[in-house]
Amino acid sequence: MADLSTDVRYIKGIGEQRAKALSKLGITTLRDLISWFPRRYEDRTQARRIADLVPGEAACVAAMIASPPTVSHIRRGLDLVKVRAVDDSGVLDVTFFNQTWLKNQLVQGGTYIFYGKAEGNLLRKTMVSPVVEREGRREFTGRIVPIYPLTAGVSQLILSRSIRQGLDDCADILPDVLPDEVRQAHHLCRVEYAYENIHFPESPEALDLARRRLAFEELFLFIIGLKRLRSRREVVRVAPCGAVDMEAFYKALPFTLTAAQRRCVEEALSDMRSGTPMNRLCQGDVGSGKTMVAAACVYFCVKNGRQAALMAPTEILVQQHYAGLAPLLETLGIRCALLTGSTPLKMKRSISAQLAEGEIDFAIGTHALISEGVAYRDLGLVVTDEQHRFGVAQRADLAAKGAHPHILVMSATPIPRTLALILYGDLDVSVIDQLPPGRQPIETYAVPGSYHQRVYSFIRKLAAEGRQAYIVCPMVEENDELPDERKAVTAYAKKLQSEIFPDLRVAFVHGKMKPKEKESVMAAFAAHETDILVSTTVIEVGVDVPNAAVMVIENAERFGLSQLHQLRGRVGRGKHQSYCILISDNQNEETRQRLKVMTKTADGFKIAEEDLRLRGPGDFFGQRQHGLPGLKIADIGCDTQLLKEAQQAAEALLERDPELTTCPAAAERVTELFTQRANALN
Ligand code: ADP
Ligand code: MG
Repeated sequence: MADLSTDVRYIKGIGEQRAKALSKLGITTLRDLISWFPRRYEDRTQARRIADLVPGEAACVAAMIASPPTVSHIRRGLDLVKVRAVDDSGVLDVTFFNQTWLKNQLVQGGTYIFYGKAEGNLLRKTMVSPVVEREGRREFTGRIVPIYPLTAGVSQLILSRSIRQGLDDCADILPDVLPDEVRQAHHLCRVEYAYENIHFPESPEALDLARRRLAFEELFLFIIGLKRLRSRREVVRVAPCGAVDMEAFYKALPFTLTAAQRRCVEEALSDMRSGTPMNRLCQGDVGSGKTMVAAACVYFCVKNGRQAALMAPTEILVQQHYAGLAPLLETLGIRCALLTGSTPLKMKRSISAQLAEGEIDFAIGTHALISEGVAYRDLGLVVTDEQHRFGVAQRADLAAKGAHPHILVMSATPIPRTLALILYGDLDVSVIDQLPPGRQPIETYAVPGSYHQRVYSFIRKLAAEGRQAYIVCPMVEENDELPDERKAVTAYAKKLQSEIFPDLRVAFVHGKMKPKEKESVMAAFAAHETDILVSTTVIEVGVDVPNAAVMVIENAERFGLSQLHQLRGRVGRGKHQSYCILISDNQNEETRQRLKVMTKTADGFKIAEEDLRLRGPGDFFGQRQHGLPGLKIADIGCDTQLLKEAQQAAEALLERDPELTTCPAAAERVTELFTQRANALN
């Protein structure tokens, strides 16, 4: 009998090859498969008459094939199938590209359902490459159809059939992680019903019920996990840190810390002196100087005779932290090392050995810092930068490395309370609500695409003055395929280099590049070996190039305000007047308002509030994949009510049964969700 950890390749109809394609979506187990939730749905329940089709609108139509389909071979790789269909109201001419097999499938006199976008006039309509199936079949029409995110080699058809099979295979074994009384008290449907209807909804109402239940479940488990982390920590005792003379550190800095920075340092140091492990979030707007707060804590910890580690999500950030912190801390007698995925193996071994021996005091790195084989003699403090890319699981994982190290999380994303509960429910919070003195505000403009030439001339002018520019272009999304950032960035950079700025040095960077390549591109930009850097949002977090004075953001409407704010924070870091230009052809009133907020304020918290007000929190973290660890379906913005309910239910349950002995399914799932290595929580 199958269980949810069964490899998808053993599911009927999937096999090796398809399993390999699915693995590109991260689907390897039966659980992954049935948890691959649709991105959206198309309501194809109602069929219209041909005469009622509205040009430009997608709809279903039932029509009879009037004459045998014709195939014409246009050129290599381009075959057309044309067929005429009719009903009592009009004529529909349908064209398919490269689907020659349809010639034999569409039978004259048969009635078919076509779903697609209609064009044409009152009497004669056309459709290009619609979805088609025999009337009454009801696989792709006649119902609400799930639309899944795809990747090369995996079509909607493959996914929906695989998921159908997957659901059938696990019909009797789906464990219900929600205790019955919780389910009933909150009017939630059963787990089988939920999975069935999230994929193959019987009706809009059934879909709502399914989504509500799955979102609740997700939030419920998440909150339980966070609460358990917290309560386990509360009983942990660690040796309190002793007093350290911080003056030496402050004197070594090229500037005086702001009052807000000082306060955050004090709060963190007092945690570390308390005798229970620190778990603190340090939240501060872009440029508020979080790194120095971290450095102060590192100094404090190392002077207490223990080791410290700083993790950042990208190689670029790690390099930068290393370049910024190591020289300062080395002069204070702290031995620093850099450890990333691209550190040569030999070096890695040697660093690991030195960490284990205690010959290195402070390690800066990516998640390689917590990979297998890295042990510390006495890890006292872990700092994670730009935390929203690090899951709670990694945090727990890391905690398992040392004897409960202190944890300091740095985040530039200002977040409202309800959201903080989910993201950082297990943390105490310090806020840096002040920028270092002397910052020039970044001049921000929102302009339409017709300004491109002017924007380019402006970049040229700044480049002539010796400045550098960022140009961010969003990922292109094609027909529900997962976005291909590579294509967008490379093509745009090429065009800029050859057509617009042949005399300037244009480079590009995107998330699919190897870390080494990315790094060398960034390093070259930082060293002013290139003038213009075209990129996706990989430069969004933390990167510091003080000579960069302009940030151009294409299709600005596609980004959340908070994300725009983060991007803008990449400039204005040096002594030069800096600019941010938001390009958007979207004339939508809402877009205009949002972009206007950007031109009016530089305050990240205000922007975050506006973002919430204007768009709802769904878009708060920009694209979904930047979102929350493990939340696939709940939307912490729109589901605020559900979040409250889930929180109440979780608290009540833990109160009654802190060890979850009455609901082993929930206990097991929480442990799975919160750990990569199960022992991290124990
Ligand atoms: P973020 O909070 O975005 O991580 P950083 O720590 O990168 O900000 O700091 C941004 C810049 O401000 C850095 O160049 C840093 O050296 C500088 N900085 C930090 N604190 C101060 C301060 N108190 N006075 C002046 N400059 C500061
Ligand atoms: Mg930073």
